[in-house]
Amino acid sequence: MDKPLKLYFIPYLAAGHMIPLCDIASLFASRGHFVTIITTHSNAKILPKSNNNFNFQTFQFPSQEVGLPDGIENLSSVSTIDEGWKIYHATTLLHGLIENFVEQHPPDCIVADFLFPWADELAKKLHIPRFVFNGFSLFTICAMESLKLHPLPEDASGSFVIPNFPYDIVINSTPPLESKSFMDPLLTVALKSDGFIINSFVELDGKEYVEYYEKTIGHKAWHLGPASLVRKTTQEKANRGGESEMSVQKYLNWLNSKQDNSVLYISFGTICYFPDKQLYEIASAIEESGYEFIWVVPEKKGKENESDEEKEKWLPREFEERNKGMIVRGWAPQMVILGHPAVGAFLTHCGWNSVTEAISVGVPMITWPVHSDQFYNEKLITHVRGIGVEVGADEWITTAFRDMKKLVKRDFIKKAMRRLMDGGDEAVQIRNKAQELAKIAKDVVREGGSSHDNLTTLIDELKHLRDNRVPKQL
Ligand code: UDP
Repeated sequence: MDKPLKLYFIPYLAAGHMIPLCDIASLFASRGHFVTIITTHSNAKILPKSNNNFNFQTFQFPSQEVGLPDGIENLSSVSTIDEGWKIYHATTLLHGLIENFVEQHPPDCIVADFLFPWADELAKKLHIPRFVFNGFSLFTICAMESLKLHPLPEDASGSFVIPNFPYDIVINSTPPLESKSFMDPLLTVALKSDGFIINSFVELDGKEYVEYYEKTIGHKAWHLGPASLVRKTTQEKANRGGESEMSVQKYLNWLNSKQDNSVLYISFGTICYFPDKQLYEIASAIEESGYEFIWVVPEKKGKENESDEEKEKWLPREFEERNKGMIVRGWAPQMVILGHPAVGAFLTHCGWNSVTEAISVGVPMITWPVHSDQFYNEKLITHVRGIGVEVGADEWITTAFRDMKKLVKRDFIKKAMRRLMDGGDEAVQIRNKAQELAKIAKDVVREGGSSHDNLTTLIDELKHLRDNRVPKQL
């Protein structure tokens, strides 16, 4: 092999951004290139090294400056909007340190999260290519760009058809203006980059959206995923950014005792906080439908110091005694659980990592979007690919920590659960489609597959750019 590339990856400090970007970095490392993840000390500790070409450059998180306790360095470890902004503030304080380091030790390429728009100037200054990552599907980026170019009226609300799109796609709720005005400028800077790195595969997003993006928007997208498939062993799948309250073996033992497709897995990712009343409706739907389950709830729920009175606000009295399932506090080994044949469906908030992880193992989804990219992801799952059913959520909140006002009632939840778990014709048809797509997902990352080929082409282009670069003027 000729001289390896030197690549820097700068993930945002949130599990949903760090996990996939580190998996993508591992793909480059597995081809013999040198990758460095730039992050903070605590975050580096929870992200395992994949091989000797995979390294960390860490910085001290400015805990005191932003007013967060030591060790809290990640959006997924906080639970209020105020703390969420403190994490964001900390990343702005880290900017100078990271920039100095990159200037002192310039790489051949930077891949930075779109929440770090300053990477644009930095790469230009160093005359190196910059790629951007935000953890969204290309379908979603296309939808967001389309709304940027053809905005809805300011007073729009409720469902809408994505304007000027290759097909008519109805989204169940209008994005709040506040989140659009946060996202749009970031997307504008992202379009100045040399390309988007996408944790998806062309066959999932659809060739028509790749064409739409490249021709209409005029920017390049590199589909390199599903990145999670880089993790092969149970240990690699378990070891990814969080401490589980039980050993992985306990989950596996429990799941091994269940029939195929009989268990419902319920998780809303790392930054979704439903009010107690909503959790109560979910619990009631679980109970009334009677399916066995693994349900991941926020860490504080059900802890020893929670009084019976507090607990009964979100969980019916003696729920755990009456029902067959596991309630997991905080963090579950999601990839290990989803990959087990006992899991029949996944009730998800449609975070893109959760979606690609379910797709990679052929688990159909019950979609319950809440914010960011999730309402678009829902339509890709249900309407475009036909591998899930909708729970009927139509309240799009600005950020994960905002209060939700509408309840999705237990009858809706129960109905959606039954559609995928009752073994009827619809359930079988959807499961078959999910399994066909899983086969494609596994094929695309093998030699000759679309994502594998894209990675080869991208590496070749980066080498060409490196070898023909005009050095920066001193
Ligand atoms: N995750 C996990 N266990 C949990 C919660 C989350 O392993 O209990 C992982 C999940 O597999 C995914 C990531 O954390 O890789 C969450 O990303 P996603 O985009 O699904 O949702 P977000 O948390 O960013 O909203």
